[in-house]
Order: sequence, then C-alpha cells, then structure tokens
Amino acid sequence: MSDVASLTKALNFAAQKHVDQRRKGKNAEPYINHIIEVASLLAENKAPFAAVMAGALHDTIEDTGTTHAELKCAFGENIADIVRECTDDKSLPKQERKRLQAENAAHKSDAARMVKIADKISNLRSILASPPADWSGARKLEYFVWAKSVVDNCRGLNAGLEKEFDKTYKVGVEKFKP
Ligand code: ZN
Repeated sequence: MSDVASLTKALNFAAQKHVDQRRKGKNAEPYINHIIEVASLLAENKAPFAAVMAGALHDTIEDTGTTHAELKCAFGENIADIVRECTDDKSLPKQERKRLQAENAAHKSDAARMVKIADKISNLRSILASPPADWSGARKLEYFVWAKSVVDNCRGLNAGLEKEFDKTYKVGVEKFKP
C-alpha cells in the first residue's frame, strides 16, 4: 500500500473511532480535528512516516477502546506498538497518570516521543484558542508547565517540533501568568 493510502486509511480509521467525541474546549471541536493536527505537525516537521501514522492513531487505544491487536491487524505491529507507547494507563488516578507520563517519556521510542511533542503542541494551541469554559488562568498555566515537563523528556530528536512547542508555550505562559 502507498504511504498516501496508508495515511488516509489511518485517518479514516481514527475518524470512525472518534466519531462521537468532541474536544473539551468551549467550542467543542470535533475530536478528529486534534488527530489531523497532530499528524500534520509530524508530517510538516519531517518526522518518520511511522510517527505520522502513529500520530493519526495516537488516541485510539486510550480514548476509544481500540485494541493493540486491532491496530496490528490493520496497520502492522510497529505502528500498533508506538500507539500503545502513547497510551496512558487509565486505571490510575489522573494525577499519577500525569506524573508517569512525564517521567516515562524519556524511555519511549523516538517515534513515540515525537508524537508526544506534537500532541502537546495541539493541546496547548487548543487551550489558547478554545479553553474549557471552567478552567481558571492558574489551571491553564499548570497544564502548560506540565506539558513542558513531558516535552523536556522528548527533546533532541526533532528541532522543528521543539521550536513550535516552545513558541506556543511562551505565548501561554505570558498570557496566563498571574
Ligand atoms: Zn491527543
């Protein structure tokens, strides 16, 4: 299958899996907007094709109940493994999950770390453009600082993604600092 066919297949798969989901922001954007943004950030910054594919699928296990076996069957073991690496253990309390995500990022594969950076860029952009209605400035700032702690453990692989993250981070910190 050509790369274009593989990527459009992955985006179509994600669109079907996330069909009923919306982002938490006040504009409640369709969830697939986030997925396409993450895949696009990876492609634009010349990440390896496996990372772009995993970017398109990165929330399917965590948020839609898709299994590793299902991804392996549709997209191969390598892509399925990267997506699994990008999946938090939802049985843990939220704070613990967030702490582990930052701590564990350093031990992930290169592709998973690039997906992490792209995911955080998209999330920070969402908070800037359409924040959840009930989030205070302090809570937004706290999210930015935590996202940076994850990204700081993913550095040294893709200067373009890092630069885009740092630019977005700076805007938020200026905007939300007390
Ligand atoms: Zn995501």
